[in-house]
Amino acid sequence: MTELLYLQDSYIKDFTAKVLEDFGDYVVLDRTAFYPGGGGQPNDEGWLQREDSLTKFEVKKVEKREEVVLHYINKEKSLNIVGKNVKGLLNWDKRYTYMKYHTAIHLLDAVMRKNFGKAFLTGGQIYADKARVDIDYPGLNKNMIPQIEYMINSEIKNGRDVVIKFLSKKEAESIPDLARTKPGQELLKKLEIVRVVEIVGLDVQMDGGTHVKNIKEIGSIKITNFENKGSHNKRIEFVLI
Ligand SMILES: [Zn+2]
Repeated sequence: MTELLYLQDSYIKDFTAKVLEDFGDYVVLDRTAFYPGGGGQPNDEGWLQREDSLTKFEVKKVEKREEVVLHYINKEKSLNIVGKNVKGLLNWDKRYTYMKYHTAIHLLDAVMRKNFGKAFLTGGQIYADKARVDIDYPGLNKNMIPQIEYMINSEIKNGRDVVIKFLSKKEAESIPDLARTKPGQELLKKLEIVRVVEIVGLDVQMDGGTHVKNIKEIGSIKITNFENKGSHNKRIEFVLI
């Protein structure tokens, strides 16, 4: 089993872990700060380094398989040290950018819900230099985009803390609308402890991702594209500036 350090603290940039398994092209660690991807956010990249050596092994791909996280490394240069410690180092620039985009998507969702009460995010994808979100919202049109962008940037400017909490099943069930997708609602039924992210005073939802501590860190956003993909489905693309 791999302990997921990023669930407790998204700002862990380096860590020490024990190698549980070494399959040549990938290793399993007992703990990791590498986000394995999910919810439209790419997996983290970075390096692993043997404690007794200065050689760093590049990690380009990270995957969660049930209870463990696989860190893919160069096959010819296997670490070959089951039971020993390695240092993990994230490509922090990349991860921090993803955290800002990810938190900005929460904010977009929250602002639309607060002001229009109808938005329902159905999907999204984060890239190194932009993000897109798909929204089920029949009334949304491109004339509303400047207003939405303004509302999001006003929220960012005022700032709000973003906090992670671990709730009991009972506490989680008392919060309406905590899980907003069908798979999320199914997962919520099975969990005993539920991790939630709260943009204080604005939004709370079940979540397994990485976020900034205050929305001020996002900077500001610019909506670069709006697409009407059908009577319900709309797509927004934005960049951080
Ligand atoms: Zn999130």
